[in-house]
Amino acid sequence: MRQDTSTLIGEPVIDRCHMDRDDPSANAARWTDPGARLLRIGRHGEAALAGDLSRLATESPAGRRDPQRQLLIGEVAGRPWFVTRADPVPGPGRRVAPLRQSDLPPAEREIVWAGLAALNWHESAPLCPRCHGVTEASQGGLSRICTACAAVVFPRTDPAVISAVLDDRDRIVLARQPSWEPGRVSVLAGFVEAGEAAEHALVREVGEETSLRVTAARYISSQPWPFPRSLMLGYVARAEGDIALSDHELAEAAHYSRDQVRDLTTAGTLILPAPMSIARSLVDGWLADRLPAPESGADLSTPLGPEIPDPSQP
Ligand SMILES: [Zn+2]
Repeated sequence: MRQDTSTLIGEPVIDRCHMDRDDPSANAARWTDPGARLLRIGRHGEAALAGDLSRLATESPAGRRDPQRQLLIGEVAGRPWFVTRADPVPGPGRRVAPLRQSDLPPAEREIVWAGLAALNWHESAPLCPRCHGVTEASQGGLSRICTACAAVVFPRTDPAVISAVLDDRDRIVLARQPSWEPGRVSVLAGFVEAGEAAEHALVREVGEETSLRVTAARYISSQPWPFPRSLMLGYVARAEGDIALSDHELAEAAHYSRDQVRDLTTAGTLILPAPMSIARSLVDGWLADRLPAPESGADLSTPLGPEIPDPSQP
């Protein structure tokens, strides 16, 4: 396998304006900037999309800005971008559709994820975790501040692991969840538990779902997945053993060769994850033989140190 992961993620496009995003006059100037864009995202994560769901349809901000409702995402190529929770407006050449089904280019994806994650978090954090006072948006939308105790609260993200899990013949595990249509598959994924290393979450989730034993994992890249607030940590992993579905999370799972995936997707009997997802990037990377070898990452098959001595012995 080639050691090339560079095509899965590139340079950031958003300047999050950390130098002056807590300056109300700077944000007011951004709002009235002739190049400013406002992205409306609906209650169910839908937006106005154009060009076969492959372009974002935005509008120019108008009227006076409400800092509690119109959040600054940042600047992209010198243009200020704001996001607000409001019904998207369909129009000529555009229609309203769920963002998770869109096929946006990477730069627009980054803007959408940042905007959607900000909205989801602000709506979930109306109260101060310290004193339960009312919080309000601050720093243009980067944070919230408690109106009672002045504590500053920052966005929370739920880490999850997602992995192309390969066997010793480089076949990939693709699995279908019970609620998915027949033929739709994805790679394996699961949430990291409190106090758990991401690699260990990978070992645990793969074991729980398929009975396979992960022996090595190499980190590839991450992707925000704000439905509602995940951060997907992408890996390529090696696992040994035979698949046996051991919980109720998967309806089916199997190993596939590259030729099998190409043939079955061409025939329409296998449906790969949405183009916007890191799951699809991992599958595409594997298909093109662009993922690094799992063994170039963490060795998860041997203990790191000596066993814990029997705690009952003095
Ligand atoms: Zn407080």
